[in-house]
Amino acid sequence: MHHFEYRDGKLFAEEVSVTSLAEDYGTPLYIYSAATFRRHFEAFDSAFDGLDHLTCYSVKANSNLSVLKMLGEMGAGMDVVSGGELFRALKAGIDPAKIVYSGVGKRDSEIREALTAGILMFNVESMAELVKINEVAGDMGKTACISIRINPDVDPQTHPYISTGMKKNKFGLDIEHSLEAYKLALELENIEPVGMDCHIGSQLTSIDPFLEALDKLLNFHSKITEMGVNVKYLDLGGGLGIPYDEEEPPHPTEFGKALAEKLSALPLKVILEPGRVIAGNSGVMITEVVYTKSNPTKNFLIVDAGMNDLVRPSLYGSFHRIGEVEQQGRAAKEYDVVGPICESGDFLARDRKLPEVEAGERLVVYSAGAYGFTMASNYNSRPRACELLVDGDTVIVARKRETYDSLIENEL
Ligand SMILES: *Cc1c(COP(=O)(O)O)cnc(C)c1O
Repeated sequence: MHHFEYRDGKLFAEEVSVTSLAEDYGTPLYIYSAATFRRHFEAFDSAFDGLDHLTCYSVKANSNLSVLKMLGEMGAGMDVVSGGELFRALKAGIDPAKIVYSGVGKRDSEIREALTAGILMFNVESMAELVKINEVAGDMGKTACISIRINPDVDPQTHPYISTGMKKNKFGLDIEHSLEAYKLALELENIEPVGMDCHIGSQLTSIDPFLEALDKLLNFHSKITEMGVNVKYLDLGGGLGIPYDEEEPPHPTEFGKALAEKLSALPLKVILEPGRVIAGNSGVMITEVVYTKSNPTKNFLIVDAGMNDLVRPSLYGSFHRIGEVEQQGRAAKEYDVVGPICESGDFLARDRKLPEVEAGERLVVYSAGAYGFTMASNYNSRPRACELLVDGDTVIVARKRETYDSLIENEL
């Protein structure tokens, strides 16, 4: 469910006309709906009401400060994967005691920043990282709370680039090495193991892989408890999918119920790290058709948003629903919707049936709220788009459009 709807054939973001936003702020343009963000967060968070839990929104899905602040005000913690994301979360006023830090390549400086802030815990992804965190914490005279990210070797049945919990992936430690890591953690002077962690992938459309991973973790839990680890937190990561097209991902309540059944007897606080399921359908991208062009095999809509603005179709072959901002009622035609970037991989959609569209008209690309702007780049020296947050009839410029000057500001 989202709050981007047609009124008399014209698209609205909550109470605001999208055409007027495109006229005022230009295209390409990201528009986020505050009501949708709130609704998704509430629906997710309340699905785990039966459990002692903390929802740590995954900052990398959409890291705009206005978004982080809004979610923080609703009680969200954050899952960060870099010093930059930690910086953003702190700027947005998130309580450090609600921040967990994941990622395979944490540098000394980033570990130091997290210890200075006083985050809840590090999700540790290798032995070397564990040793490093101990060293940095020792230098600072601090104790670092950690969990080991366990790679349970479960197939999440999603795109290979967003599968993270299989043996061949770079993430976490397999079960045997995790056991060794906890042994080491108990010995290291400046480390306190407080949790267990896993994150098996993204855009999952069934809860079965989550439950398969959970069973392996619970089995492992009894082993490390015997070893003397006092496990307080069970971090199950993110990964719940959303409908981009015809997918029918499980509702969070289904996941919440299944978890409550398996965990009722254990004194564990569950941490969840949803990203896409909160942000994905809370945002759209608006783009204008610059030219139309046809050859004997294809009709092209050449639009002003490229793979630098929204890379998911190019990177993962992802599907994003596309529609007109103002419905003209013309007959359908098959199009490749392509950007201006000098790459044949620069497309938003291929072989897509859309009502016939003319140059100067605008299109809406749905489900662009997660991994949209955060993956944007300046490739082809294109200033990054403007981000707006609409709340009822209020429009907040969440990030202003970059200028040509922003392109060169760090160059000497
Ligand atoms: C990306 C990521 C998430 C969020 O994944 P979604 O599929 O967007 O929910 C959560 N935890 C970790 C460690 C991640 O890397």
